[in-house]
Amino acid sequence: MIPATTSAQPVVGRFAPSPTGPLHIGSLVTAVGSWLMAKQGGGRWLLRLDDLDSRRQQPGMADDIMRTLASFGLLWDGEVTRQSRHLEEYEAAFGALQRAGEVYPCSCSRREISGSSSAPHPGDDGPAYPGRCRGGMNDSSPVRSWRVSVPEEEICFTDRRRGECCQRLPAVCGDFVAKRGDGEFAYQLAVVVDDALAGVNQVVRGDDLLGSTPRQIYLQRLLDFPRPDYCHLPLVTGEGGAKLSKRDNLISNHLGSVAGREQVLLLAALRFLGQKPPPELSGEPCSAILQWGSDHFRPERLFAAVDGTVAA
Ligand code: GLU
Repeated sequence: MIPATTSAQPVVGRFAPSPTGPLHIGSLVTAVGSWLMAKQGGGRWLLRLDDLDSRRQQPGMADDIMRTLASFGLLWDGEVTRQSRHLEEYEAAFGALQRAGEVYPCSCSRREISGSSSAPHPGDDGPAYPGRCRGGMNDSSPVRSWRVSVPEEEICFTDRRRGECCQRLPAVCGDFVAKRGDGEFAYQLAVVVDDALAGVNQVVRGDDLLGSTPRQIYLQRLLDFPRPDYCHLPLVTGEGGAKLSKRDNLISNHLGSVAGREQVLLLAALRFLGQKPPPELSGEPCSAILQWGSDHFRPERLFAAVDGTVAA
């Protein structure tokens, strides 16, 4: 049984990179933001490697990410966890959803879904699934996925930076995938199980995951897990607003080029998050900059932070 989150509990935050590429400046901002928000209240900051998708892993990247974090003084509490070691826990949660009749097998291929005229709302993950297999699938077809039946109601939560956010799951994603036909668990299920297992009560991550949060909240409700507090940070973009990609590996690919610039990048990340580090901090070690950050962190300044480039 996982205890419910209460405001009296110490903060347990986390950073959960996927080891599909080296950290870039956007991941550094998320790491710094989640570290500050956990540490300012004397909380813990956990590191989890989201390594479920074996096709997108890059050898050596997990170590590379850990080395980079350490070079910035971003030291995690306790053991690093890896999603690839939690398959039994995901299976248990999936079994609970199955027993409760909340998931159903689906034979639809991506092409069938995107070609459906009743799926007019392309969301982050493509068009909303129109529910074709909800009433039962043709027995002769292979199971391509297991989907969670979503309710018609609006799911709302208060994000620390974005305020009240509401979403109707049927319009945005429809019945979403919890497990694929090949046995791989979906991110939405894995992240909810992991956060609950680790007692995470504060999720601070990039704004690109804001739209996934209602699905995760719905799963928490079905699985009787507590709901963490959420804060979605502004996104770092390249020049002209372009999304960052693996090529923007200005941090770790190349510790060589970062070595000696950690302080400058840390201060830039703090400023990007709306904080106002004093000029005297330049030249101080990373540990002193982070200490200043957690002592002086002003969450309300995050509200003024917007997507954009980081000036280092
Ligand atoms: N592993 C995810 C990513 O790198 C983040 C998961 C999360 O913060 O919930 O985008």
